[in-house]
Amino acid sequence: MKSPLFFTVIYLSCFCMSVNAQTTNAQTTNAQTTKAQSANVQRVNVQRDVESAIVEQVNKDMPLSLQELKQVVNINSGTMNFPGVKKVGLIFKQQFEQIGFDTKWIEGSDFDRAGHLVASYGDRGPKILMIGHLDTVFEANDKFQSFKHLGNNLISGPGIIDMKGGDVIIVSALRTLKKLGLLDNVRIQVIMTGDEERSGKPLNVSKKVIIDGAKWADIALGFENGDSDIKTAVVARRGYVSWLLEVTGKPAHSSQIFREDIGYGAIFESARILNDFREQLSNFEMLTFNPGLIIGGTEITYQEEKAGGDAFGKSNIIAKTTQVTGDIRTLSYKELADAQKVMQEIVSDSLSHTSAKLTFFEGYPPMARTDGNEKLLAMYDEISQSLGYEKIVAVNPRRAGAADISFAAEHVSMALDGLGLMGAGAHTKDEVADVTSLGKNIHKAAILIHRLSLAK
Ligand SMILES: [Zn+2]
Repeated sequence: MKSPLFFTVIYLSCFCMSVNAQTTNAQTTNAQTTKAQSANVQRVNVQRDVESAIVEQVNKDMPLSLQELKQVVNINSGTMNFPGVKKVGLIFKQQFEQIGFDTKWIEGSDFDRAGHLVASYGDRGPKILMIGHLDTVFEANDKFQSFKHLGNNLISGPGIIDMKGGDVIIVSALRTLKKLGLLDNVRIQVIMTGDEERSGKPLNVSKKVIIDGAKWADIALGFENGDSDIKTAVVARRGYVSWLLEVTGKPAHSSQIFREDIGYGAIFESARILNDFREQLSNFEMLTFNPGLIIGGTEITYQEEKAGGDAFGKSNIIAKTTQVTGDIRTLSYKELADAQKVMQEIVSDSLSHTSAKLTFFEGYPPMARTDGNEKLLAMYDEISQSLGYEKIVAVNPRRAGAADISFAAEHVSMALDGLGLMGAGAHTKDEVADVTSLGKNIHKAAILIHRLSLAK
């Protein structure tokens, strides 16, 4: 009887030892888990503290950000006002130098524009390209020239959301990170172009700085106003090309129009072509096209640099010549090629005694929707919600115009645009900004860069 008991005892003791061993292992694992958890909690707390410090610093500097916005909005920088564009560029240049960036001004004489500003910082960590532009659509002779407080958190001014506000967000976010010592594990290149609204030609020269910056970078962030909705950001943009339609007809006395040997004249033929464009291109889902300028008559002159011209004609003379300029926007190269084919077919189907020629020029490439862009959007959305701000979703590409980031997007693993100042009425005299979006979007941009700098 001893033996069984003995064995039982042995067994029990083995069991106990094994239980003890398991307990010890479990305790160790628990202890490790608890340690890891508490390290994690600690990390989250530290992270939260850092992000709160960012928000606090941005808020403290808000009067400065607003003052800087007012200053640049009050300087006319219509694309063709080269001294104005450069003046705005040199103000930002100085602001970047004050926070330790290397800067350079690239003269624009090779592409007939004012030039571009480039500012760089850092020698380790992920490489982020931040894109802005200095020019606006409001030229020196425009009536809309100055910054105004409108009350109800609204401010107005030419280019305030498109996109001097975005430029100020870039500077303010980087200055905040620099002040808090958070800019050492990230490499930044800021490019503010001087010709976003009217690109210098040839495009491969004027956009070289953006393409080179994008080839260098891992991530591209654009600070345009997107569709001016704080609840959206841009992961895909349509590309565009501009076109010129030149039409000629047979001049004669108006009383003879429609005669077999005289025909319809240049203006009727232009109207036919444009109407056919409208009817047939409306079948393309993501496409828009727009004739922006038309000049017709007996004699016309068109000056590209003025985006305008003169016409002479009389109501009793059949129009001899017409020119129409416009653009076409698509989400893919294929859609563009298909549309161009349709347009050329319409143009070649001339009314009698008229002829027409349609020329397409270089344009902006489409920014395709990619997983990387979606991932960046998800990060940005998470940041916005963690701050108690809006949920952010992708903007419908039909609602976002082309932008410089389109030249960068295909060269980086992640790209996101529409991070700028929000408001309404871009490109019109009613352009206004919502001041509350200035602080929010500086907070979000600074925290996004900080979080990207922590990513391994
Ligand atoms: Zn813009």
